[in-house]
Amino acid sequence: MKNIRNFCIIAHIDHGKSTLADRLLDATQTVTKREAQAQLLDNMDLERERGITIKSHAIQMNYTAPDGEQYILNLIDTPGHVDFSYEVSRSIAACEGALLVVDAAQSIQAQTISNLYLALENDLEIIPVLNKVDLPSANPEEVTDDIVDLLGCDPEEVIPASAKTGIGIQEILDAIVERVPAPVGNPDEPLQALIFDSQYNQFRGVETIFRVINGSIKKGQHIKFVATGESYYADEIGTLKLKQEPKKEISCGDVGYLITGIKEAKEVKVGDTITDHDNPTKNAIEGFEDVKPMVFAGIYPVDTEDYEDLRASMEKLQLNDASLVFQAESSAALGFGFRCGFLGMLHLEIIQERLEREFDMTVITTVPNVSYHAYTNKNPNDIVIVNNPSDLPEPSTLNRVEEPFIKATIITKSDFVGNVMSLCIEKRGQVKNQTYLTQERVELVFDMPLAEIVFDFYDRLKTVSKGYASFDYAPIGMKESKLVRVDILLNSQTVDALSALVHFDNAYTIGKKMVEKLRELIPRQQFDIPVQAAIGAKIIARETIKALRKDVTAKCYGGDISRKRKLLEKQKKGKKRMRQVGNVEIPQQAFMAVLKLN
Ligand code: GDP
Ligand code: MG
Repeated sequence: MKNIRNFCIIAHIDHGKSTLADRLLDATQTVTKREAQAQLLDNMDLERERGITIKSHAIQMNYTAPDGEQYILNLIDTPGHVDFSYEVSRSIAACEGALLVVDAAQSIQAQTISNLYLALENDLEIIPVLNKVDLPSANPEEVTDDIVDLLGCDPEEVIPASAKTGIGIQEILDAIVERVPAPVGNPDEPLQALIFDSQYNQFRGVETIFRVINGSIKKGQHIKFVATGESYYADEIGTLKLKQEPKKEISCGDVGYLITGIKEAKEVKVGDTITDHDNPTKNAIEGFEDVKPMVFAGIYPVDTEDYEDLRASMEKLQLNDASLVFQAESSAALGFGFRCGFLGMLHLEIIQERLEREFDMTVITTVPNVSYHAYTNKNPNDIVIVNNPSDLPEPSTLNRVEEPFIKATIITKSDFVGNVMSLCIEKRGQVKNQTYLTQERVELVFDMPLAEIVFDFYDRLKTVSKGYASFDYAPIGMKESKLVRVDILLNSQTVDALSALVHFDNAYTIGKKMVEKLRELIPRQQFDIPVQAAIGAKIIARETIKALRKDVTAKCYGGDISRKRKLLEKQKKGKKRMRQVGNVEIPQQAFMAVLKLN
């Protein structure tokens, strides 16, 4: 145990976490040249394409220190996006140390700070790494000062490095051995292991990734998962090198994988405790939470006949992504589909993309919303959970509505404080704190409704700050809000899939902008289509999509044959993401229109 080091890497997106991980794997010869492939840890296609780490993974390195002593270094990789912050917290709980990677040109960002706080709460030893010192735009002195201010450490503790050229890699390895404490735990106590990740393997089922806190786990052992209460046999256990290496035992303090024949990802919950079935631990490891989806949206097949195929695809997806939840729903406008819960907008996009790529489905995603709590006058103490605007009780019976709030932390340059403030206030934010981290860098803290930030907030923030702002958030609970449902009528028919819950004070403006946007997005047809926005029976805005002029259609049907065919093909392609509702065709963008109003 005294020669094990468990550590993670904390970094803001793009500061070089994956590149540094690759360098450490090279330096410890964990991968041979032939196996070396840029950004090894990001092994899902989608992750590689987007250049982000979606799921955390772990990898073990053997390292011989300059004094000849052999060490086991377990690198626990963490996802770099706010949608996955619970997983980050569990990975951090499995470590004794953290490399804090800061880009020498960009300095400290909000994501870095929030994950650093998590690491400090877990008493991790922090090793600051000043990365990208090779860049001409690097400001090593200034950024070192920023790090020293933030951590209260000595400037000598900050390791200048370049994950690109290899500067500082040896120093980092030595610092891990010298500064990160060895695990403490009792090998003689009953087994207590923390599940901090799981991954799905088509052939072997769910692979559980764990860190042993006390006791040890043996091949064949009868084990139990505390939170789910399920028991299994440890069919295979081992360590995670580039490939899995089966072992007879994973001992106290070490990290490994477990295969038990579990076929569904949802049986393995990140944060759960593994113990011995016959001699269970008395204490579950603290910090377990059931992950709750933050954003909900309907997913519908473009072709109603594909409903059963879509169900099968979603079930398969859920096998390897336990954070996806869904249930069947029906919409008057779209027919049968599913109400799905996601960790955030990135997660929603990933699911939609995987459905299309891996399962060849064409789907329509409806207006995303957060989860509201409504109370009726009849039962003012019973929560009605509203995951779909159509679930909101009738206004006349409604007692009150609560919506989820978050604490948003934004770090920006002092020049942009005004812009950022205006944006946050426009998004119904309340300023809670403003701190100058350095002369030029300001940390702003707001309480804001989650609904206002999950959608386009981050893009807007980047625009108003010319890219010099970073953002992070944490939930702070439900608060009462004056919310109403704005319905959209096409051709005098309510299209339920276009309804949105919005704050009363903004309802008129949003209704007006929505009908304008829909008039732009919905293709003209042979007849006039009135587009209306309404609150209850009251129409608050109206536009008309004018019928196509006769001569335009005439042109289509005259002309030569090849031109006609081209047109038809074009129409066919355009059909892809369109849904016929009544006699109006609605393109996918229209369902997202409410998110894109400025
Ligand atoms: P992550 O999002 O933190 O995992 O960041 P990546 O490791 O994907 O790195 C983001 C970008 O920065 C990539 O284009 C890397 O090639 C580049 N990068 C990483 N480390 C260095 C470095 O030390 N120097 C330079 N010049 N570029 C680096
Ligand atoms: Mg990465």
